[in-house]
Amino acid sequence: MTIRVLATDVVSKIAAGEVIERPASIVKELIENSLDAGATQITIEAQGGGVEMMKVSDNGAGIASSELELAFHRHATSKIGNLEDLEKISSLGFRGEALPSIAAVAEVEILTKTTSGSVGSYLHLTKGEPVRKEHRARPQGTTVIVHRLFRYVPARLKFLRSPNTENGHIAHLASQYALAFPEVRFSLAIDKRRSLHTTGNGELRDVVNELYGPDVAQRMLNIDQKEDLARVTGLTSPPTMTRSNRNHLSFFANRRWVHSPLLTRATEDAYRGLLMDGQHPVAVLSISLPAEELDVNVHPAKAQIKFCHEQTVFRSVQKAIEEVLDRTPIASSKSMPFLPSSQQWQRPRMITDNEPTFVVSQLPALELPVLRILGQLANTYVVAEGPDGLYLIDQHAAHERILYDRVLAQWSRKQVEVQGLLQPVTMEFSPREEETLRAGKQFLAEFGFAIEPFGDRSYLIRTVPSVTVGSNIIEMITALLDTLARKEGLNPREEKMAESLACHGAIRAGQQLGNEEMRELITQLEQTKQPRACPHGRPTMIHLSTRQLEKEFGRLG
Ligand code: ADP
Ligand code: MG
Repeated sequence: MTIRVLATDVVSKIAAGEVIERPASIVKELIENSLDAGATQITIEAQGGGVEMMKVSDNGAGIASSELELAFHRHATSKIGNLEDLEKISSLGFRGEALPSIAAVAEVEILTKTTSGSVGSYLHLTKGEPVRKEHRARPQGTTVIVHRLFRYVPARLKFLRSPNTENGHIAHLASQYALAFPEVRFSLAIDKRRSLHTTGNGELRDVVNELYGPDVAQRMLNIDQKEDLARVTGLTSPPTMTRSNRNHLSFFANRRWVHSPLLTRATEDAYRGLLMDGQHPVAVLSISLPAEELDVNVHPAKAQIKFCHEQTVFRSVQKAIEEVLDRTPIASSKSMPFLPSSQQWQRPRMITDNEPTFVVSQLPALELPVLRILGQLANTYVVAEGPDGLYLIDQHAAHERILYDRVLAQWSRKQVEVQGLLQPVTMEFSPREEETLRAGKQFLAEFGFAIEPFGDRSYLIRTVPSVTVGSNIIEMITALLDTLARKEGLNPREEKMAESLACHGAIRAGQQLGNEEMRELITQLEQTKQPRACPHGRPTMIHLSTRQLEKEFGRLG
């Protein structure tokens, strides 16, 4: 189809809004254009967090020289022609807004050649207007270079985060498209550093291997189920492989990367009862539906969608995953680098999840009385007697409080106790995690992590803070990077860090403790500033006063 300006009724149907929020939005639009042009190879470069320069090259169909200026007109598109087309969109773009929007906020150069064109055309635009056009050689395909983003929109510039954060967004975005299109060869370089490279051999598992490492790639379970309207394909993790955030859930609807609370819920529902609270699966799921079942014209950024039959889609996804999980014997998951022991995800629910039948007294005093240990309950609670009744102490929460205070105290004295690892742990990070790591390296070092580059997105962990010895290092660092990525700008960061370290280092529920260990735990808890609450604010203990006991037993008149 040739490029033409859309009729006004189509234009008005397309909701107004902003396409470009941050550098990664531009990369998204350019990648989508390349994919729509049938590219099998897409190369992305970013510099200075994308503000300085971004470049996307492809080997797709190219734009005819005669239409090059037109491509930068608002609502000029080759992808749809009328209202009916809008009802069943099969391309990623359709609004004809990306190129003009980009040219409005940055300086743009484009070099493109079609198969039939004898030579390529080059166009340079400043403030949305073409300033130079000429013939230039290049093989078939298109290269778009974007410089000086938001230079004339200082208000926007002000809202951008650090280059590292923006790099993280760009890396995450490129990763998602690489997962959605395993048959396309993607490469991403950030500040001239190779960040991502896929082969384009069509194997999703190979892309997962590149992004999440061989262990994840090997253990992911295949999904391919057709249910009612929707076909669900992709990979999902066994219940023994989890992450502490939802960064590893990717959904594609008719190959479009989408943010969908519905799909997230359907996936997590399938794992219900199999994962510990706060743990999430790893999944890369592609949902294919007839085009008219999907409304992609919900938002200019096109990342939100509406399914016509939400319940049907929900059930299809949930069922597809459940069937695969049902067929997977738990015992087959031998190695579990994400969890230290198989016990962890079968951990019994805490009693405090249920309403106690009696009223628990909340003593205003912060200090603890002297306690005499009576024993351990359910390998999770320390049972103790005090001058005024019975105390049930949550061993994990109590230990968390102790470690939290210790980490913060050591950090503020700049004397964090570190532990060298006899065998350094090798970790491979996703492109996004790598960007967070680079931004947070100094901060992590202050807390005792020595992390060295070790080739392509691989790193060696040489030391960890002593308080976390014995915990799962890979899982802990993944969670810390997630905390750092989300908490940027939020102060105080050190408290979040201490919370996270304490949580990973603390003894788990389900772990048997000897008398000596219990006594030590209580002694240390007594010395903390707030012995009655863990750093997350949950209680470390339940106190049943003698009076309450008397009441419960009907001893009080
Ligand atoms: P849309 O993608 O919604 O059509 P854009 O503003 O992103 O709108 O692009 C306008 C038009 O420019 C597209 O419809 C397409 O014809 C052409 N175009 C843009 N990028 C490329 C590319 N990389 N390869 C080929 N054609 C392109
Ligand atoms: Mg587009």
